[in-house]
Amino acid sequence: MKVVKQKDVKLDGSFAEEIAKRSGENVFLCYQCRKCASGCPNRMFMDSTPTELMRYAQLGMVDEAMKKNTIWYCLSCQTCSTRCPQDIDIAHVIDTMRIIGQEKRIKADDNKLPLFNRLWMTMIKYMGRAYEAGLVAALNLFTGHPFKDMALGMKMIRKGKLKLFPSIKKPFATMKMFSRAKRLKK
Ligand code: SF4
Ligand code: SF4
Repeated sequence: MKVVKQKDVKLDGSFAEEIAKRSGENVFLCYQCRKCASGCPNRMFMDSTPTELMRYAQLGMVDEAMKKNTIWYCLSCQTCSTRCPQDIDIAHVIDTMRIIGQEKRIKADDNKLPLFNRLWMTMIKYMGRAYEAGLVAALNLFTGHPFKDMALGMKMIRKGKLKLFPSIKKPFATMKMFSRAKRLKK
């Protein structure tokens, strides 16, 4: 096993700077108390905790942060942000990491997660609301398993738990919202 000597460790603050520039949050304020991780309702499904993500950001470990499923499994529920004694909006930091990861085209270990996110956002943009049956069908198609869970889906449609067709509400309103966000970004 290769031993890493202290003098060989180089810290890269550019990731933290990028996060600060985009979100206004300073990840160096985190002192690893783990209050965010202990309150996270989705922690059990994540590869690493929100606390660990903050450490990756402090150390400039971009790939480690982006490849984990954590940034994709975050529900943006804000529990961590509310609990942080340092007032860091961790949910916003994670959201920012997702955007940076997409822009830099860093592939997550599980590629289905960014794909799910893209499909979901496209659906919201054009339909103004979620369309679960369409989302699952598109995800199955893009991942090469078109008939996955089909029997279960049909059963749910028959029982009225899933709608076969989407109900589109005010699509132009969300489309306008998306183009405004794009303009603001520029
Ligand atoms: S915002 Fe994300 S990381 Fe924070 S508690 Fe909620 S699910 Fe967990
Ligand atoms: S709650 Fe705040 S200070 Fe504590 S580990 Fe999480 S981010 Fe860091």
